[in-house]
Amino acid sequence: MNFILFGPPGAGKGTQAKMLIDKFDIVQISTGDMLRDEVKSQSDLGKSAKSIMDRGDLVSDNIIIAMIKKRIQMSDCNNGFILDGFPRTLNQAVELDGLLEDLKIKIDNVIQIEVDENLLLERINKRALENESIRNDDNSAILKNRIIVYKKDTMPVIDYYKNLKKLNTINGMQSIEKVSQDILNIL
Ligand code: ADP
Repeated sequence: MNFILFGPPGAGKGTQAKMLIDKFDIVQISTGDMLRDEVKSQSDLGKSAKSIMDRGDLVSDNIIIAMIKKRIQMSDCNNGFILDGFPRTLNQAVELDGLLEDLKIKIDNVIQIEVDENLLLERINKRALENESIRNDDNSAILKNRIIVYKKDTMPVIDYYKNLKKLNTINGMQSIEKVSQDILNIL
């Protein structure tokens, strides 16, 4: 099973991704986690990505696509994967289609976790307080920018999958268990 999971910051995407990897014995491919690893190891890529991430802006498509191309061909992906945080721009989505076609891999499901913007702001403020020292980009001003970037760059990607009739939208304003159940019901 191969999935794409969409949701703005604070939508509970990480929690649901974890549920899916356990349930289907697949791996999570989070471009955000991969980038944070690069920053931690102080690689050249990490060094150039850090300031962009700290602002809540998007790292360039070329870097992201090269990263995904390498990751998706690793053997632990053979049983399936969840793309989390990718594709985030229309260009990334189009590039992904080409890559998957070359590798003869199909996406089984595209899932969007939808959350009302006011609730998101409430959740991210809470997360910002809890995570103060963990993530540089988890303070509320930057999280707000990430939501703006999400609406501007990532909503068109969601429309792209909607037009292809591949999109399933889940109401994220329910309990974690109910969101999980709704996701499992559509799979
Ligand atoms: P979120 O908590 O919003 O899901 P992520 O952990 O996925 O955030 O990403 C953190 C940051 O890493 C983003 O704000 C962005 O700077 C960068 N990033 C992650 N994935 C991508 C991507 N596919 N394209 C561009 N930038 C990305």
